[in-house]
Amino acid sequence: MIKVKCSLCNKKAVIELKYANKKLCEKHFTLFYEKRVRRTIVKNSMLRRKDKVAVGVSGGKDSLVLLYLLHKMRYNVEAVLIDEGIKGYRDKTIPYVEKLCKELNIPLHVFSFKEEYGKTLNETVKKRKRPACSYCGVFRRSLLNKAARRINADKLAIGHNLDDETQMILMNFTRSELLRLARAGPVVGIVEDDRFVQRIKPLRECSEKENVLYALLTGIKYSDVECPYAGEAFRSTVRECLNMMEEKHPGTKLGILHSFDKLLPILKEHFQEVGEVNACKVCGEPTSGEICKSCQMKKEIT
Ligand code: SF4
Ligand code: ZN
Repeated sequence: MIKVKCSLCNKKAVIELKYANKKLCEKHFTLFYEKRVRRTIVKNSMLRRKDKVAVGVSGGKDSLVLLYLLHKMRYNVEAVLIDEGIKGYRDKTIPYVEKLCKELNIPLHVFSFKEEYGKTLNETVKKRKRPACSYCGVFRRSLLNKAARRINADKLAIGHNLDDETQMILMNFTRSELLRLARAGPVVGIVEDDRFVQRIKPLRECSEKENVLYALLTGIKYSDVECPYAGEAFRSTVRECLNMMEEKHPGTKLGILHSFDKLLPILKEHFQEVGEVNACKVCGEPTSGEICKSCQMKKEIT
């Protein structure tokens, strides 16, 4: 059998990165991967050395790789886990988070939908008027922000990878949701407000496949159980389409991401949000209206 050699040394290659025209061995892939994450952080001014970073973890590969890597880079990290209360899913992923936090001696804070909103997601969907992910997304985003604030974090890091980012970009473009796009990007949020903890995405230039390999090479054990509510049809179409384009034209995903980054300042300028940020009349969280989205949804299910 012919051994495919690393482009940088004599060792056996473990991955071919067609978009970079490189085949890399374990050591050179690890160096390449870590250097890219470091560059993403610096290029987008995501973190300062003194920052306390809340890392949103789920137990999947992306968030655990992110936690491991920020800890390895000697940032002051604490893990934040949102337990939505999805039987057969979240209970299966939590032990992976607990294990890594214990190994690395990282504090773990668990916040649950049940405690915060009075119902687990399983209970919520019994009364649902919308898809499960609509409630879950709104509740989780709000709770992650609260959680980061409660532990006095300066930043909230989330494990979105290149696939998540390009899917989000393409989905919003196709639906003409340009305001949503203006609110996206490497550092999330248009509004400057103490009640919002800035969300950062250090893995946004790393593909899902690369995250899997990095986890494997560093010995990070993660859960690959899928949420029973997952499977938005449109996202699956976009995912397939992007994977096909990447296969035929390597570099497509990074190209989309970099084009979006160049457009972002124009989008932000165009959709500059005016007006004050109010405190929600029910829960006090920041909102552009009178009652925040979480409280509106909470009302729907009571
Ligand atoms: Fe929540 Fe939907 Fe993700 Fe499941 S797939 S965790 S319901 S957002
Ligand atoms: Zn509210």
